[in-house]
Amino acid sequence: MHNVHTHTWDQTVHFDPQTVREADLARGEPLDLTVRFEAFMADMDPFDRIVVFGLKARHTGYWVPDQYVADFVTCAPKRLVGFAGCDPTQPGYMAELTYAVEELGLQGLKLGPIYAGFDPRDERCTPIYAYCVERCLPIVFHTGTTFNRDAPLAVSRPWLFDEIAIRHPELRMVLAHLGHPFYEECLVVIRKHPHVYADISALFYRPWQFYNMLIAAQEYRVTHKLLFGTDYPFADTQESIDGLRNVNHVIGNSPLPRVTEETIEGLLTRDSLTLLGIT
Ligand SMILES: [Zn+2]
Repeated sequence: MHNVHTHTWDQTVHFDPQTVREADLARGEPLDLTVRFEAFMADMDPFDRIVVFGLKARHTGYWVPDQYVADFVTCAPKRLVGFAGCDPTQPGYMAELTYAVEELGLQGLKLGPIYAGFDPRDERCTPIYAYCVERCLPIVFHTGTTFNRDAPLAVSRPWLFDEIAIRHPELRMVLAHLGHPFYEECLVVIRKHPHVYADISALFYRPWQFYNMLIAAQEYRVTHKLLFGTDYPFADTQESIDGLRNVNHVIGNSPLPRVTEETIEGLLTRDSLTLLGIT
């Protein structure tokens, strides 16, 4: 079982104080988002392989150094797959990225256009995408909304990634959180492009929306392009698995369509890392 979306960071060091306060909106209550290795690994018990990253986004006050992620991965190198952060609005981002991959051994990239305040189609991203294609590095993009007040929704829309996939057809991309609440846009993008996927992390806490997302994915026949993730520490593993397995509870015994066992178990057993080109 694979988890394609987890974080490591220390909120007292890597977040601006305003960001720490705004993060309360994520689950509607104050959260301690600092990730501790022992607790993290205990939570990740069901997974053989876990993708872990921080975030670099100066605009909204996140800055997790790649070295920090690499050191975290070193504690469990057989199971953890570290991804670099990258903020193309900041000087030296390509040098930082090549160092993270070639010296620190990170195997993919996390980008947060809404957090860092850039359009993913921006020219500054072109060398990033070219490098990722050349090195076979997948990119997890945050897509859809978030809680930070200064984060521009305009650059969160899943349809923006259609143009990137047309320009870079070999680029492996994961559109995180199914682009919530713009999930229909996300589903049509992943349907068109063989190497574009979406993850379902951090969606179960809106059960009606989550149910509708998975029904729409079935109707568009793209459930094989959905990957399991938890967005730890925002959500933990057991509640994420339970939220998925119980997704039909919201409709009770009504005659509405049901999310199938095949969809649910497919999500829990998919070989996501191979799909993303990670060996
Ligand atoms: Zn996340």
